Amino acid sequence: MCASTIKLHPEDFLCAVCKNYLSSAPIYLSEDSRDICNDCVRADVDIPYRNVALEKILVNIFFPCENETYGCTTAYKFGEEEEHRSKCFFKQVHCPFRRNHVCQWNGTYGKIHDHLNKEHDTLITKDAKFLINLNQNDKRTFIVSNRNFSVVDYMYDINSGILKYNIATFEPNIPEQKSTIKLVSKCDPDSMIQVKGGECVSYNNELFKWIPENVIDMNKMKLLLNNPTSVWMCFTVPLQQNTNANLVSSAILNFFKCGQCSYNLKLPIFEQNDKFICNYCYYSPRVTKQNCKMIASDSSLSRLLAKENYQCRNEHCGEIIKGDSIVNHEISCQFRVHKCFVCTKELLQSLAKEHYVGHGIEYFTDEHNQKNVNNQQHNQQTSYYGNNQQTRFSTIFTMLQNEIIYITYNYNKDQFTLKVQQDFVVHNYKLNMELQCAHDQCKLPPQKFVFNGYSQEVTLPASQLPKCFNAHVNVRIYFSYC
Ligand SMILES: [Zn+2]
Ligand SMILES: [Zn+2]
Ligand SMILES: [Zn+2]
Ligand SMILES: [Zn+2]
Ligand SMILES: [Zn+2]
Ligand SMILES: [Zn+2]
Ligand SMILES: [Zn+2]
Repeated sequence: MCASTIKLHPEDFLCAVCKNYLSSAPIYLSEDSRDICNDCVRADVDIPYRNVALEKILVNIFFPCENETYGCTTAYKFGEEEEHRSKCFFKQVHCPFRRNHVCQWNGTYGKIHDHLNKEHDTLITKDAKFLINLNQNDKRTFIVSNRNFSVVDYMYDINSGILKYNIATFEPNIPEQKSTIKLVSKCDPDSMIQVKGGECVSYNNELFKWIPENVIDMNKMKLLLNNPTSVWMCFTVPLQQNTNANLVSSAILNFFKCGQCSYNLKLPIFEQNDKFICNYCYYSPRVTKQNCKMIASDSSLSRLLAKENYQCRNEHCGEIIKGDSIVNHEISCQFRVHKCFVCTKELLQSLAKEHYVGHGIEYFTDEHNQKNVNNQQHNQQTSYYGNNQQTRFSTIFTMLQNEIIYITYNYNKDQFTLKVQQDFVVHNYKLNMELQCAHDQCKLPPQKFVFNGYSQEVTLPASQLPKCFNAHVNVRIYFSYC
């Protein structure tokens, strides 16, 4: 094969309509043989044909940046204009305070830094942090200057409880990435949550023409923070240096996927018929445990994954956690969602207890334990007595190791039913239930049931219950270590 020696000039490949470079696919050919760019094709041509042959030729050409006249000497490859344009040091931008009619400056992206320092130094803060009074509308634009130079723009509306914001960087060499926002109650600094923020984009003129597009529902956040009147919003903006330190590098995680759910493998991991199984699938009732064995934590794969950064899988959570503790975090994360066993609504973990109590379901705790249980059971955690004469049907719940355990017991004249529901295995614990005759004179041994792991149900026909159980029965519930 002989290499092409023909020199191609970008200025020979212009859109017939807008006269811009044909610098990205698709390129169209009109019936009257004109080459037309993707932006112009709809307005100009009835039946466009895609000009694939020309696209194949143009991948060999470098196009000059549109800001050449302002000093940019970069040439970008076919299809890569957008990427260069957003970060071009010479792109023309307005001052971010133009929207508020404060400043009419415009100039090159690379010089905005100097302009802001010189003209707007009173609007520059060290931290991307601001206080929202939840009872007051608010709207502000300010510059953050730490290791990264960026602008934050927000507006809060008390009627909807919605905070809208944008965050943009003036650093041309920063990769666009998610910001993280910490919300801290002003009256109780211990009350804080961290949420995933919007993309921190390269600053551009479009950004401040419109209402900011990232949204936080402050009504929801308020509940999680115990109803403060003011909330500190602290943005973590990606840094120019050490950007890798806190990033999720997807290469390794994307390579090792769970053979069941196809999500990232999370430790501890298991192996089944030459497939890897993640921690969540292993403990899922839907997955059979046949031929399944745990991969040792000192194996090379386990050690590799332990060092990787994972993004918490719970929606709104902004935490990035090392592989050896990501599952622990996700299970205890306040943004974890539980499905209500009563109304099937999705509940934030941190609000689940209140929700169940709102259904009129009793929360059982160690207090019952102190009150009712003899001290011989040294390993019990919790217990509960019910008397089925008053409560023929009883529902109670508790939380153990961040799992909701929802228990129903139901007596009618034909049978006694005990039912335990939970989402996920509580490790190292067994749930014990005993049915005990309430008469001192009978001295019948208790009937004991052990529940392990997921939802289980035990039904006893009346014939299996001692006669006197029909009148009085104590249900005693406690946890014990395995
Ligand atoms: Zn065009
Ligand atoms: Zn450029
Ligand atoms: Zn200005
Ligand atoms: Zn899985
Ligand atoms: Zn989380
Ligand atoms: Zn519910
Ligand atoms: Zn009895």
